[in-house]
Amino acid sequence: MDDAMILSCGHSYGSNGMQHVYRMKACGKCGQPITEDSIRPNLALRLAVQAFRREEESAKTLKRRRDRLEQDKNGNDDPNPTELSRGKGVQYPFAVFDRVMIKGNKRTPERFVGRVAVVTAQCLNGWYVVKTLDNAESVKLQYRSLAKLTDSGGGGEPSAAVANSAQNASWL
Ligand SMILES: [Zn+2]
Repeated sequence: MDDAMILSCGHSYGSNGMQHVYRMKACGKCGQPITEDSIRPNLALRLAVQAFRREEESAKTLKRRRDRLEQDKNGNDDPNPTELSRGKGVQYPFAVFDRVMIKGNKRTPERFVGRVAVVTAQCLNGWYVVKTLDNAESVKLQYRSLAKLTDSGGGGEPSAAVANSAQNASWL
């Protein structure tokens, strides 16, 4: 309807409708006879059509933008699985009841270092409360100060400690 024409009867047509009007020499809507020189471009309708198009276009653009935003937002809210497991892997590498070796750091009391413990609580930011297996002492340590022990153990000293203290771990 960029080419809207208005007839003397007041009805408007686009170029397709006008073909009919020219053929019939009459308005297809009300049947009023039309002479070609009475046909005028309907500028108001053309403008309205253009405005409508623009609006539709910007609505589409808006929607596209909103969709994209939505996707971005979802991307952040709903972290993709690799991201999550990686984050978890770093920050929460241990679970309650996991056996760990206390590697310690410079603030770890000497007596804890090298001992085997069981995670009794998981705290925020990768901190864990662990209890030593041999004398059930609790200490709060960050994951960096801990190393996971697997049950297979690999035959090292820690697994021997685990085996020894496994029987008297009833304090758990
Ligand atoms: Zn008409």
